[in-house]
Amino acid sequence: MSFIESLTLMLALIYSASLLYWNGKKSGAIITIILAVSASIISLSWPLIIALTIAVISLTLLTKLRPEIAKGELRANQLRSGIQHLLALSMLLVGIQFAVNALMLKAGIAPWVMRPDVGDAFLPIAGGIELKAILTLGLWDQTHPAAAVMLTTVLLTGLLCKRAFCGWACPLGLAGEYLYKLRKRVIKSEFLPPSWLDWPLRMTKYLLLLALLYIIIGMPTQSIPGYLNSYYHKIADLKMALFFITPGLITLICFGFILGISAWRRQGFCRYICPYGALLGLISFFSPLKIRRNTQHCLIETKEMSCDKCTRACPAKISVHTQQHIRSDECQACMRCISACPKKEALQFSTRNGVKMSARGLTIVLLLIMFLIPLIAYVSGFWVSQTPTEIRMYLIQHLDAIGH
Ligand code: SF4
Ligand code: SF4
Repeated sequence: MSFIESLTLMLALIYSASLLYWNGKKSGAIITIILAVSASIISLSWPLIIALTIAVISLTLLTKLRPEIAKGELRANQLRSGIQHLLALSMLLVGIQFAVNALMLKAGIAPWVMRPDVGDAFLPIAGGIELKAILTLGLWDQTHPAAAVMLTTVLLTGLLCKRAFCGWACPLGLAGEYLYKLRKRVIKSEFLPPSWLDWPLRMTKYLLLLALLYIIIGMPTQSIPGYLNSYYHKIADLKMALFFITPGLITLICFGFILGISAWRRQGFCRYICPYGALLGLISFFSPLKIRRNTQHCLIETKEMSCDKCTRACPAKISVHTQQHIRSDECQACMRCISACPKKEALQFSTRNGVKMSARGLTIVLLLIMFLIPLIAYVSGFWVSQTPTEIRMYLIQHLDAIGH
């Protein structure tokens, strides 16, 4: 595990432990710390050990200097924004590290920059095929194991807390938010499509998801071992890296289209294009947690006021004030509606039988799922790619000749 991966992981886990502690879940905090320390000792990985030390020192300083941040007492929007920016910074650094590693291999230089395995998170098809291999053949891929781990992790977040991954963690969502704000500074008007057009546009992401699922599900089980041993699979990550580093004309047009959609409409990329968002949207229907409006506290029913602050705060334009619970596949559990509501008890992120989850609770659950699973996978030996650097260097020189 590279140093940036280790540092992000340890900061997230130690921060989660701190939130658990201040939330009164001291046993949870102790278990998290024991897991982090044991993983560092068992793996004897110096990046993990140094990262753990830095995380503990940082949190101790944070508790003294900014206790409200260390204790997670920030408002939901501040907490979400902080988590999003830190994860985006980490992914940016990981992306740079990945690109440098790939360029050195391409130049025939033995890379002194380590390949961050978390980059395999951008190989969802490989991850899907690997999961299928595990489930149908009991075959655990050793080429890009992190792809299967990260896919499982993201799916689990959707199952437990709707599309919170999109709203709280995805760096592309954050980039889209900035693009949209920038566009609004220059052109103030909103250009929302009419609902008869919005619905088919939203279905585009489901069509893209269908295409990805067709590749994964359509691959015959007996072909999977051959695929996992193929040169194509071994350098799927390098193909992806070079696709981004040296884009062709069609790639640039696609990038321009994605940027344009993100600037045109808030969450445009998430709403219309992202197949990951589509998958999480579908899974989110099974999540026990939903935004629920309590009519015994909402100003509409109790004071007969025409309040719609929650709806106006929703970036997905969901009509929150007219529904009792939000089932929509576009809800990213961002909690902006809850923050905007003037009545504390009127809106909650909760289960059907009233178990509530605060912004702090959601932060804990998200961070624990997203970082404990990779940590366990790493210690179990199912994280780091076993493809030798020499083979990667040889294969990248013959990239164009390697097909599916
Ligand atoms: S309904 Fe609330 S939590 Fe869901 S996307 Fe809209 S503002 Fe965010
Ligand atoms: S903002 Fe709160 S009080 Fe107003 S309509 Fe929404 S839930 Fe009701």
